[in-house]
Amino acid sequence: MNNMIPYHRVYNTGKEIEYVNDCIKRGQLSGDGHYTRLVEGFLSGRFNLGKVYMTTSATHALEMAMLIIDLKPGDEVIMPSFTFSSTANAVLLRGAKPVFAEIDENTLNIDPADLENRISKNTKAIIPVHYAGVSCEMDRIMKVAEGAGLYVVEDSAQAVNSRYKGKYSGSIGHMGCYSFHGTKNYTCGEGGALAININCSDLLERADCIREKGTDRSKFLRGEVDSYSWVDIGSSYSPSDILMAILYAQLEHMDVIRERRRLIHEYYMGILKRYAEKSLIKLMEIPLGCESNYHIFYLLFKDESTRNIVKEKLSDRGITALTHFVPLHDSIMGRSLGYRQGDLKKSELAGKCLLRLPLYSDMSVVDMYYIGEQLMDILEGL
Ligand SMILES: *Cc1c(COP(=O)(O)O)cnc(C)c1O
Repeated sequence: MNNMIPYHRVYNTGKEIEYVNDCIKRGQLSGDGHYTRLVEGFLSGRFNLGKVYMTTSATHALEMAMLIIDLKPGDEVIMPSFTFSSTANAVLLRGAKPVFAEIDENTLNIDPADLENRISKNTKAIIPVHYAGVSCEMDRIMKVAEGAGLYVVEDSAQAVNSRYKGKYSGSIGHMGCYSFHGTKNYTCGEGGALAININCSDLLERADCIREKGTDRSKFLRGEVDSYSWVDIGSSYSPSDILMAILYAQLEHMDVIRERRRLIHEYYMGILKRYAEKSLIKLMEIPLGCESNYHIFYLLFKDESTRNIVKEKLSDRGITALTHFVPLHDSIMGRSLGYRQGDLKKSELAGKCLLRLPLYSDMSVVDMYYIGEQLMDILEGL
């Protein structure tokens, strides 16, 4: 079908092309130009972050974070199994071990009690993932981390502009990682950011070197050294200023985008409540104190086959609904790390029973009602 309602569509503010033209006129297309500064300033000011580094993706922000904390072979990092591969790859790329924890069935976020049980003498960090844009229980996680002397690196890839008890996602942990990928709420196609919220000069200096390909070029640019040279390991994580020009336009519309997504979320919640009361489905939950950016709207079915039937029927009626993560422990790679099916049952259930409904800022009201009516019709017939 060509006129399918898509799962996601990129929202255009109309300003993107103007800023890109301006960027080209300014003549600096590489990283750290005018728009990179604007975007970094916007994010750190709005979200109350420490130092912000724009990156080419959240994947790279996570990798940078693991380099900055000097993760080494033998070290362990605890994260939920129900996440994207990037969360675990960042750890594996340092030769360290991802340790998968179970999720809470109401939010699909890491279960703080299970996390605590998995701390060993080798644990160096925790990566909580804020699934669907709804925050993890950060108070408990920060307390556990402080007690055990661990770093907390928030995977806020999905949670840009979400809040937990008034604090913005990515501002609570020692570091926070954001994504501006084409599938996320605010996007420049491919992009990300790393926020470093602890004021530790050694760590910040290391971060500067790592993103300057292992050189002390930042010191040179600040006039602190006469020339720069190779001082540490590093890589290339700075995005082109052209992409940051696009992102700046998107961030200016941050709250417009959030509000439009909220209205669709509220509509879905409203029409689906009675099916949840009849236990036909389980609805996603946004706990008290969490303010979502409405990145994902999902529902959970009682089993995999019901989920698949509904997905198929929606597709027949021109509506794209999507499943999501295969839990990492139960993937080919996860099994090669020694995990087995059955190790984390709640995560496996989420992988099998979850369905995401279309959600994008410029969805027409006609389409929204169409999706709602078709879904209700399908649920009535189950
Ligand atoms: C999207 C996503 C990432 C990766 O983001 P990129 O910017 O595409 O690298 C990482 N973690 C989670 C939880 C994500 O949803």
